[in-house]
Amino acid sequence: MPKRKRNYNTHHIKLTLSYSTQDIVTLFGVHKRTVHEWYTQGLPRIDDLKPFFVMGFHLKEFLDKRQGGRKRHCQPNEFFCMKCRVPRTSWENVVDIKFLNEKRLMIVGLCVQCNTPLNKISSPKKLDELHKIFVVQKIHHEHLSGSNSPIYNTDKNEVTGT
Ligand SMILES: [Zn+2]
Repeated sequence: MPKRKRNYNTHHIKLTLSYSTQDIVTLFGVHKRTVHEWYTQGLPRIDDLKPFFVMGFHLKEFLDKRQGGRKRHCQPNEFFCMKCRVPRTSWENVVDIKFLNEKRLMIVGLCVQCNTPLNKISSPKKLDELHKIFVVQKIHHEHLSGSNSPIYNTDKNEVTGT
């Protein structure tokens, strides 16, 4: 059977509702078999009692992840979140900027979805542009010579609650 990949509009999913297999069939107009395929692909069910039920947020997460698997370029205000595996914006578009050297700076944010630190490299030449795209909270000037400080020092901050 050829596999056609479809895009499902996950905005209709109510995150706090539970959906039966039949609800999902109705919601997306897919075959029951498709939903069962999703179960085998990792869509979490509430339990193994029939009829199966799925929490809305699990359904949305599963489909978003699946659809995010295809390459999508980040918008100027987006970062690729390593945890969500899709482009995400930072909380309220707030970022810090760190100058790494004369030619490079790093934009640092926090994933709006999962709180994972986000970062991407840009150029000081684009600074004006960045101020238009983001709410720049802090600008750090790292010392240019010698210190080879790790880029991902945001990891040292307390990021708990995963
Ligand atoms: Zn994320």
